Amino acid sequence: MSLAKRRGFVFQSSEIYGGLGSVWDYGPLGVELKKNIKERWWRSMVHERHDIEGLDAAILMHPKVWEASGHVSGFTDPLVDCKQCKNRFRADDPRIKGTPGQPDAQCPVCGSKGTLTAPRQFNLMFKTFMGPVEDQAAVIYMRPETAQGIYVNYLNVQQSSRQKIPFGIAQVGKAFRNEITPGNFIFRTREFEQMEMQFFVKPGSETEWFEFWRTERMNWVKGLGIREEKLRWHQHGPDELAHYAKDAYDIQYEFPFGWNEFEGIHNRTDFDLSNHQKHAGKKLEYLDPKTNEKFLPYVVETSAGADRTTLVVLCDAYREEEVRGEEAAEGGEQRVVLKLKPSLAPLKAAVFPLVNKEGMPELAHRIHDDLRRHFNVFFDDGGSIGRRYRRQDEAGTPYGVTIDGQSTQDQTVTVRDRDTLKQDRVATGKLVEYLTQKLAG
Ligand SMILES: [Zn+2]
Repeated sequence: MSLAKRRGFVFQSSEIYGGLGSVWDYGPLGVELKKNIKERWWRSMVHERHDIEGLDAAILMHPKVWEASGHVSGFTDPLVDCKQCKNRFRADDPRIKGTPGQPDAQCPVCGSKGTLTAPRQFNLMFKTFMGPVEDQAAVIYMRPETAQGIYVNYLNVQQSSRQKIPFGIAQVGKAFRNEITPGNFIFRTREFEQMEMQFFVKPGSETEWFEFWRTERMNWVKGLGIREEKLRWHQHGPDELAHYAKDAYDIQYEFPFGWNEFEGIHNRTDFDLSNHQKHAGKKLEYLDPKTNEKFLPYVVETSAGADRTTLVVLCDAYREEEVRGEEAAEGGEQRVVLKLKPSLAPLKAAVFPLVNKEGMPELAHRIHDDLRRHFNVFFDDGGSIGRRYRRQDEAGTPYGVTIDGQSTQDQTVTVRDRDTLKQDRVATGKLVEYLTQKLAG
C-alpha cells in the first residue's frame, strides 16, 4: 500500500477530508496498469473470439430488474446497529459479546451494553432517487453486478450481431455494493469494476461449457504472469452458493492476507432469464434456426474483479531483493521492484540522459519523443542514475534506456533489463523494434 501510494498506483479517496471508507482512486500508474489488464481481458474475450460480443450497459437500470434478479429480496446481510454510537455491524461479527437485542450484548466500538439492536436484514444495494421528487416511486439502485445489463439485452445483441447459441456477451464496468465489512485495500470495496462474460448455451450443454470456461479463464490468469503456486481453485459448498448459482468455482490467489477469490465461474442455469421473462412479461426464448426449436438458454458466467485482478498482479509482482554488482553499493543493496509482465507494466521504458551535458539531454529528448509515439514512456533526468533506476524498479518499468557519452558519438544507447539488470547496447534506429519484440506477449 505504501508503494502504491508513493509511486502513484492507488490513493485513498478524498484523502484531504480524512478519506472515504474503502473507496480508492487510481493514480497515474494505477490507471495504466488497470487499463492494460482490462484491455488484455477484452482482447482475449471479445476480439480474439468469434462467439462473444461486447456490451456497455448503463449503471442505472429499471428497478424491476433487481426484483427479477432476486437482489431486492435476496441480496441481504443480517446487521445490528448500536443505538449509542450509531455503528453498524454484521450480526455474526466475532467482536460482539453477548446476543444482539439482549441487555448483555456489548458494542465492540463504544463498549456500551444493551445498545445493540436485534439483527435486521439490510440490503447491500445502493439506493438513489431518479427525477426531481424524492418519493418511493423514484427509488432506483446502483447496479450490484454488471450481469443483469447483459441478460436484459441478450436478444438485442443476439439479433443485431446474428450470433447463434452458444455465444457470449462481455462487459467491463462499475458495480456497487454497500459492504458492511469492506477492507484489505482494493480487495473488498464498495465501488468496484467487473469484467464479466455471460455465455448462453443450450440446456444440457452447460456442464461441458462450464469446464471449458474454467480452463480458459485459468489459462488467462496464468498468462498475466502470476506465479502458479499462488493460484488455486475453490469450489463453492452448498452454503456458499449465491442465490442464482447451481455450481461455482473461484480462482483464488494467496494474498498477503490469505487465500481469497478474484474471479468466479458460475453456472447460473436459466435463473435470470426465466425470472426476467416472468417479471417483464416478455418472451426471452431463443429460436434455433436449424431445428426451429425454442428454448430458454442456460448461462455460464465468468466474473472477474478488475480491481482484485489488479491487486493480484501488484502483489505477485512485488519483490524486495538484494542487488549486487556494479549497480549496487559495495556489499550489496536492497531494492524494491515490481516484476510486472512487461506488456502489463504502466510504463514500458524510461529514458535517462546519463549526465545533463555534452549533448546527452538533447539526444535523450529526441529518443523520448520518438518512443512515446509507440509506447507509454517516461523521461527522468533527476538525480544519480542509480536512483533513477530504483524509482523505475518500483514503478515496474521493464526497460531503462540510458544515453551516455558513447551515444552522442555512435548513436547507440544502453537498454537495462529491470529483472536481470543486464544491459544491451542498441542502435537508436533499432530501439522501437527492439522494445516491440521485448514487450510482446
Ligand atoms: Zn456503540
